[in-house]
Amino acid sequence: MNTKVLKFGGSSLADANQFRKVAEIIKADPANRYVVASAPGKRSSDDIKVTDMLIRCFEMAGRKENVDEVFSQVEARYNGIISDLGLDFSLAEDFEMIRMALRLRTGRDYVVSRGEYLNSKILANYLGWTFVDAEDGVFFKEDGTFDEERTYPQLQKLLENVDYAVVPGFYGSMPNGTIRTFSRGGSDISGAIVARAVDAAIYENWTDVSGMLMADPRIVKNPRVIEEITYRELRELAYMGATVMHEEAVFPVEAKSIPINIRNTNDPSAPGTMIVPPSRTKQDSLPTVITGIAGIKGFSAIKIGKNKMNVEIGFGRKVLSVLERMNISFEHIPSGIDTISVIVRTKDIENRKEDLIARIYRDTEADYVDIDGGMALIASAGRGMIRAKGCLGRLCTAVGSQNINIRMINLCAEEDNIIIGVDEENFDVAMNAIYHEFVRE
Ligand code: ASP
Repeated sequence: MNTKVLKFGGSSLADANQFRKVAEIIKADPANRYVVASAPGKRSSDDIKVTDMLIRCFEMAGRKENVDEVFSQVEARYNGIISDLGLDFSLAEDFEMIRMALRLRTGRDYVVSRGEYLNSKILANYLGWTFVDAEDGVFFKEDGTFDEERTYPQLQKLLENVDYAVVPGFYGSMPNGTIRTFSRGGSDISGAIVARAVDAAIYENWTDVSGMLMADPRIVKNPRVIEEITYRELRELAYMGATVMHEEAVFPVEAKSIPINIRNTNDPSAPGTMIVPPSRTKQDSLPTVITGIAGIKGFSAIKIGKNKMNVEIGFGRKVLSVLERMNISFEHIPSGIDTISVIVRTKDIENRKEDLIARIYRDTEADYVDIDGGMALIASAGRGMIRAKGCLGRLCTAVGSQNINIRMINLCAEEDNIIIGVDEENFDVAMNAIYHEFVRE
């Protein structure tokens, strides 16, 4: 049997009605053997996610405030799901354990992770499946990073004798046995880890959109759904703000070439988006040269000029060492003969600009150092661009014809991603111009 791993996000498991949809999806195929569940998410746009409620409880407890009211709301969310599903099942003992941790004000990650733990227990009970706790099969190292050497063999062993199991997402355990969570949205990573551990044929990531869109729908009207995207393209776009899945969820499955399918719990007949290795792309001809567009505001260019920089060996290293010592990460380094500019996130240099400029002058003896803020970066990624002619020209003409100046441009080494920098106020118009140049209805 080709085992499938399905991960359901918070909105897919926000109430009993969503649980019913999820169960129908799961039971439709006996190959659906391992399910990874998130904590209950928002039922409507003004609702609060259980994870956020738990974070609030822990913070309140830290301030020695009374958490009874907020924690009772958490209990009510779960008890509501249990009674609406008509289950003969109680989480009372678990609630008591969490209340105790709050009283002791210890174990932040333990408290925050209980959202997934409790929801997965309900789902396992509802499906009649085995509950396998992530703390027994997902491990972190002492420094808090994911421990793959320990996790995969152990998780595989745990699951190989269980036909059908629900595993909570978002957390695992530290070497001393305490609970540790991934960063927010981390159930996507847990799903990918389970898929890799059981060598799944596919990792289905069920959410509330019918796949990944070619552009942000708040900026471009009705963008197309991406049918197929490679892991690499996805990472490029996710890094630049496209949010369909946690960007680190790609690594575990990529190592085994397991495809990811983004699906919609509220529209299960939609095929969604397939995320695949380049060798497994099925589309004969790409619908568009560009697979997707994404962008973010909030960048600055540190511009450095020095006569005869071109013959000075080590100039770039000196500039980057200053950034390294100040713990500032850089994004791009476009350069000329006597100039180099380093693109950084504005928030990383806030309140440190003068110090940064002074250090660069001191270490490089530059003729000038200036910082220009207010830049938005837009990435247009697509394997269709590799060795294709004219893409850069089309992109620049589209942006230029909107009377927008391009402040920076970077064609990545693989030729599958063009990043441009524009003034922040031109962000939306530039994004639309690029989209409509490459997507002709
Ligand atoms: N519940 C966690 C969060 O809200 C993790 C997840 O849903 O993936 O971030």
